[in-house]
Amino acid sequence: MSLANGRPYLAIPGPSVMPDAVLRAMHRAAPNIYEGELIGMMPELVADLKYVARTDGHVAMYIANGHGAWEAALANTVQPGQAVLIAATGRFGHGWGEMAQAMGIETQILDHGRQAPVDAERVRAALAADKGQRIKAVLAVHVDTSSSVRSDIAALRAVLDELGHPALLMADCIASLACDRFEMDSWGADVMVTGSQKGLMVPPGLGFVFFNDRADAVRRAMPRVSRYWDWSPRANPEMFYQYFGGTAPTHHVYGLRASLDMIRAEGIEAVWTRHATLARGIWAAAECWGQGGPLTLNIADRAHRSHAVTAMRLGAPLGARLREWTARECGVTLGIGLGMSEPDDPKGTGFFRFGHMGHVNAHMILGLLGVVEAGLKALDIPHQAGGVAAAAEALVSPAPQG
Ligand SMILES: *Cc1c(COP(=O)(O)O)cnc(C)c1O
Repeated sequence: MSLANGRPYLAIPGPSVMPDAVLRAMHRAAPNIYEGELIGMMPELVADLKYVARTDGHVAMYIANGHGAWEAALANTVQPGQAVLIAATGRFGHGWGEMAQAMGIETQILDHGRQAPVDAERVRAALAADKGQRIKAVLAVHVDTSSSVRSDIAALRAVLDELGHPALLMADCIASLACDRFEMDSWGADVMVTGSQKGLMVPPGLGFVFFNDRADAVRRAMPRVSRYWDWSPRANPEMFYQYFGGTAPTHHVYGLRASLDMIRAEGIEAVWTRHATLARGIWAAAECWGQGGPLTLNIADRAHRSHAVTAMRLGAPLGARLREWTARECGVTLGIGLGMSEPDDPKGTGFFRFGHMGHVNAHMILGLLGVVEAGLKALDIPHQAGGVAAAAEALVSPAPQG
């Protein structure tokens, strides 16, 4: 007997659950790319992307995943031989840094480990020491999907302003956009990168680079930008063909239209509040289980936990055993530990993650938690019972301020 038959649930931190409305919008014959509906859809699509990012700036779109958006952001703003400062809070910060290195950019990495948010004072010290202003950009990951820590992007803006340092502030919001509150303009990010397959609920395949006029001035002063990554024609297209530097990803555009319609209808503030509330339910369950056994949340302080992804540790081999059990017995796939190797566990199998980004609601989260609690029981992993009840309680409690 298996209890897994029925609708499967991919509860990993990207790709995320796709709404039926997105899938239906994509299920169509090939549309014309030279005239007609698709072309007319673009101005509103761009406006709605900026609504989600809280910016009046510009957006360039790419047929790419998040790695492509990383490269695009750097290709438009930093020359080989110039330097960037990376405040790394997990695997993805290091990944963006490796991308920069491969592009011939000098990298100065502030490694914050994998359990702490960016320390603005460390960034301040590094920038203050940069007397020649060789650092052209500060790179920070808003939510590092491996550690599930969330960092304060506005605090980095404040540091740059206080020092009068001209480096651009670049944020990776691939995991956080349309999940955790992010305010590109008022928080002062000059460049922000994201992808389609997390909070935007569309299959992997679209990368986005948002940028303001300051960043665009840097772009215009570049001696050369690789033609394909150049954000200028994509953000200011004279014809439809230029939005994507060639043939458009037609079906992704339709899927994105459907997802933005959903976000617009709910309202971005309500989308953030839903994620925050569901996250509190998850934390309540995990904190309960942890009181009677080995389970710990990777980020101890609630104030620094993402609302889109939660990394937890059970210790090897229990994390992997739990994931295997929930998938096989219940049709729920949990995320692997990423970048979480330990001396006696090089693959990080003691860790697992929940993705709770985008198209998720209370019954899915309570179902996910119920399945995990069943797994803890079935596998005889010590835990305090009552996690699901604690989550139910948290979901109906008034939200704390902030
Ligand atoms: C998923 C993710 C990436 C990588 O995106 P891909 O689409 O897999 O290339 C980068 N940064 C963060 C924070 C992510 O969550």
